[in-house]
Amino acid sequence: MKLPKAVCPDCSDERELSDVLTAQANQNVIYQCAKCGYIVRNIQTSKG
Ligand SMILES: [Zn+2]
Repeated sequence: MKLPKAVCPDCSDERELSDVLTAQANQNVIYQCAKCGYIVRNIQTSKG
C-alpha cells in the first residue's frame, strides 16, 4: 500500500500528506512545508 505524498512547490521537499496537511474546522485544508514553511491554503479535497 502506497501512502500519498505531497511535494512542496517551492523546495520540492517530499512528505507524507499526514505530515504536511492540516484540516481546519471549516473543512479547508492547509498545506505547510515542514522544511521551508511554504503554505498553501484552501486546498480542494476530493469528495465523492
Ligand atoms: Zn518547502
